[in-house]
Amino acid sequence: MNILIFWDRGAPGGLEVPVTRIISQILDIPAEVCESPILYNGFERGRDQFNASAILSCLDVFSRRNEEKSFILLVTGDDIFRPGNRYVFGLSRPATRTAVISSARLGNEYWGLPPDEMMLIDRLSREGAHEIGHLLHLDHCDNISCIMANPLTLDDLDKKKSMLCSSCQSKIVRNPISVIL
Ligand SMILES: [Zn+2]
Ligand SMILES: [Zn+2]
Repeated sequence: MNILIFWDRGAPGGLEVPVTRIISQILDIPAEVCESPILYNGFERGRDQFNASAILSCLDVFSRRNEEKSFILLVTGDDIFRPGNRYVFGLSRPATRTAVISSARLGNEYWGLPPDEMMLIDRLSREGAHEIGHLLHLDHCDNISCIMANPLTLDDLDKKKSMLCSSCQSKIVRNPISVIL
């Protein structure tokens, strides 16, 4: 079991290696990163955002065609939403072992604050590990410092530690039997 991270051209350059390393450490699963081969759709002109479900469907097609056994996480710079939410930091689909996260709102700049690369690395790693946690069949956790806490705001994300709580750690299904639909 390992994690394949697809780094989109629009995602912040130069952070691939530290983010991949931290995600791998948090989940204790090998991870590798490469430039994303995925061309996705799902742009909604009225909102100027991409529909995260549509992006996941594109990842699913890629995964099926390539008989990919790894968990796939796409990191994009595009702002993403899910119907019912104004925006999301990320979305996952355990049935097909695919997930997407967006850096669009994770940088300080978006919120009018001075840029901080270390914070951006932490946020991308935590959000990426959180979505892959769902692929490992973990649910949301009440412990606000746990990676599986549900982050509704950037503050929530910053309150987490870059680790799973011991309860979530014990619930990881290391060999999930997933049906590729
Ligand atoms: Zn979640
Ligand atoms: Zn937890």
